Amino acid sequence: MSNDMDDTHPSLTAFEQVASDPLGYAQRHKEATGRLVIGSFPMHFPGELAHAAGTLPTIIQESEDPITAGHGMVHPFYCGYTRSVVDQAVKEEFGVLDAIMFGDHCVQVLGAADTVRSLLPKAKVHFYQLISSMSDPWSFERARETFVQAREGMEELVGRSIDDADLAASVRTFNHNRQLIRRIYELRREGLCDLTARQLQHVVKSSMVMDKDEHNALMETLVADVEAGEGPRTGGVRVYLSGHFCQAPKPELLDLIEECGGVVVDDDLYHGQRYISTDVSEELEGMDGLAHWYQERNLRVPCPTRVDQNADWEEHLLGQMERARADAMIVLMAKFCEPHMYYYPEIKEAFERRGVPHLLLETEHEMGTFEPMRTRVETFLEIARRQRAGKAVA
Ligand code: SF4
Repeated sequence: MSNDMDDTHPSLTAFEQVASDPLGYAQRHKEATGRLVIGSFPMHFPGELAHAAGTLPTIIQESEDPITAGHGMVHPFYCGYTRSVVDQAVKEEFGVLDAIMFGDHCVQVLGAADTVRSLLPKAKVHFYQLISSMSDPWSFERARETFVQAREGMEELVGRSIDDADLAASVRTFNHNRQLIRRIYELRREGLCDLTARQLQHVVKSSMVMDKDEHNALMETLVADVEAGEGPRTGGVRVYLSGHFCQAPKPELLDLIEECGGVVVDDDLYHGQRYISTDVSEELEGMDGLAHWYQERNLRVPCPTRVDQNADWEEHLLGQMERARADAMIVLMAKFCEPHMYYYPEIKEAFERRGVPHLLLETEHEMGTFEPMRTRVETFLEIARRQRAGKAVA
């Protein structure tokens, strides 16, 4: 859906088109460049490796289509993302992918990986098990070893070794992309960005699937346009969005929050801050840099699929809300997402203890209507608005 804002920021039209059809973009890119296309699962695979090997890395997305042919292939109590990926595999929609790189960040991903493997016996499917314990004395080395394996796997796929200089160049390109998107996030926190939550999702989601040089060129235009924009978005309840790991929240839900009077000022979504939070060191040697990045990003945006003595997600969220001067947090939890379900009680307790308004919304692949949520969001935002007014008077 385009809107008038796209006239102000032409880059957004391209981002929206790519975000709404990632596999179509990959097909067109492949035909135009002859590059291989490497699909990866969220959330920890470094696209830099695939880019340095001369391929197009693309993070496999949840499809908007209803789950039909793949319905009986995995348990119905798997999350929408894994069920959708299996459904896309059954429908033979991954033909453009020359290989798929899997990680093991949760049990459902493991189940989905096995199913995709059996559905696509001819596909090159590589599987990497990154250590989930982040702060043990051996964590860095184990992560490093896994990235060495991933590099070797990539080299096998393309039939040549990856040059260190190419990897360093890819790291710089990816870092630049993250920095440009983080600039938009900074402007949004400061109230100087006129992008809606839906539009910002297009920015991040397209970055996950698009050629990074192409994305960077469009991002530079967007950042310049936003910086020169007409001024701050004002009013509304300042909302922090948290949750949703592997799949982008439905754009309609983001619209609904804004229609109800919320202004999304920050988030820790994977299709958001989680994806762009951490640069890869340009000083450390290639695989050391990736292992460092893997550990560091869990400190910057803690992930409930990892175990880290030095990271505390609920304290991180409270700190981030303060930084963004957010009035309220809305937690978007994908139905049956076990890591999130296990962790959420700690967040709830911490937010209640501090008296910070927050609302849990459970989302599904098959959302049907959003109207029942509208009343809950409206009521919640009204409570948050009154609490903010009460604080201002005090
Ligand atoms: S982390 Fe959650 S959303 Fe991601 S694959 Fe696992 S269950 Fe699904």
